[in-house]
Amino acid sequence: MLDKNKVIIIGGGIAGKLAARVLSNYYKEIMIIEQDSEVSSPAPRKGAPQGNHIHALLHAGEHGLEELFPGITEKFQSTGAVVINSTKDLAWHHHGVWKLRYDGSYTTTLQTRPHLEWHINQYIIQDKNIIIQYNQSVKKFIYDEVKNRITGIELKNGSVIHADLVVDASGASSFSHRWLTEKGIHIPAEQVKIDLTYVSQIVELPENDDRDWTIKLLYPNPPHEKMAGSISRVEGNRYLVTFIGYHDSITSKEKITSLVELAKKLSKSDIYHELQNANPVTDISIYRVPHITWRKIDKVKNLPEGLLMIGDTICRIDPFFGQGMSIAVVEALALKGILETQSQENIAQKFHQEAAKIIAPIWNMVLTEDFRYPETTGKKPLGLPILQWYAKNVFLLSGKDEKIYDSFIKVMNLKRPMTILMKPRIVFEVLKCSFKKSAE
Ligand SMILES: Cc1cc2nc3c(=O)[nH]c(=O)nc-3n(C[C@H](O)[C@H](O)[C@H](O)COP(=O)(O)OP(=O)(O)OC[C@H]3O[C@@H](n4cnc5c(N)ncnc54)[C@H](O)[C@@H]3O)c2cc1C
Repeated sequence: MLDKNKVIIIGGGIAGKLAARVLSNYYKEIMIIEQDSEVSSPAPRKGAPQGNHIHALLHAGEHGLEELFPGITEKFQSTGAVVINSTKDLAWHHHGVWKLRYDGSYTTTLQTRPHLEWHINQYIIQDKNIIIQYNQSVKKFIYDEVKNRITGIELKNGSVIHADLVVDASGASSFSHRWLTEKGIHIPAEQVKIDLTYVSQIVELPENDDRDWTIKLLYPNPPHEKMAGSISRVEGNRYLVTFIGYHDSITSKEKITSLVELAKKLSKSDIYHELQNANPVTDISIYRVPHITWRKIDKVKNLPEGLLMIGDTICRIDPFFGQGMSIAVVEALALKGILETQSQENIAQKFHQEAAKIIAPIWNMVLTEDFRYPETTGKKPLGLPILQWYAKNVFLLSGKDEKIYDSFIKVMNLKRPMTILMKPRIVFEVLKCSFKKSAE
């Protein structure tokens, strides 16, 4: 336990709650300030509108949550979340080929994001060190200019609360970078324009013995195809249907009254057929992500002390790849590791360095895919054409080579680094696949 008293966490979303869980072992009082009202059931909320859309929990996220909240996976499952065999029950059309289907050794838990967040909250409310103040919005930091230190926050209602550490977990719309800019402190950032649109609805489907999948993903074959569709069973024996379009392929002008019209636009008709007999149980939700941003907080030399950023506040990654929550979990575990093993000085600075190491390879992996569209603008990763060529061949081989698909699953689920896809056998198969294609 540190000889420190109080932490304020701005934002009671996923990253905020994970940070609270970790810091609660080291500080006497953790106060989460959340602008939304408290929810009384697993329901979407205004401050996290993305919660209406598909939220995959990757293996790294699921295993990390279990480490932070022992027993949570069982709680998800006993309240209706759906456990699937990650390779047998997922039907995935990707870059023009179906992935292999087999009874593999990994499982994935399917549920809505509000269900997942609800269960995290059930653990948080049992922690006596953690207080959550709902319906309060943080307006700015309290700053000691002489010491270059954040000493607290000011709420929109004018109240001031002091703390030893302020954690900004307010997500992609965080005010921190604007506030810091006003103080003459610049956070370098990478921003990539993707003009992504999500459209989702929960439906009921009639029983169908021929349905041999629990989640179906119909991904585009870029650059010509820009739209994806997914249908996933979730808690309550319902199905969450989501369409995702890059570069305004689902245009902002379009009034979407039924998902069937969007389903018709996909190159595969599977979701269209399912929707013929679907009974909608929610309204249609739309969410837009014009660009993704990585704020390189680790590069700021004169960052005020006493301020730590985590989750989407640092990096909003392309949600299409389902990594955001899992990145927040891995970051929380990194924070835990720092607190457990290192001197307690400069925690925020050390954490920002670790977070950058977590984000960098994922950011590059995502951009390799986003830049398949010529409309994507921003800083391209080094060696992009080679990365794209290599990744494309790995995707194609995942439709016929179990070992390669297995390695790809581990990378995609953030369990292993990209380098495992560079093993000699995989390089050999990629070259073989590529030469075969060019000979055809
Ligand atoms: C459409 C979409 C689909 C996604 N799909 C996936 C997926 O499949 N898998 C996955 O892992 N991730 C996915 N993500 C990413 C995931 O939603 C985020 O990475 C994750 O929510 C990050 O959590 P966070 O706590 O950093 O931010 P948020 O979840 O945005 O939480 C921020 C919280 O701060 C509160 N807040 C904001 N400002 C203030 C303030 N001034 N004062 C007080 N409170 C404040 C908000 O109300 C909110 O509760 C998706 C994102 C989007 C947009």
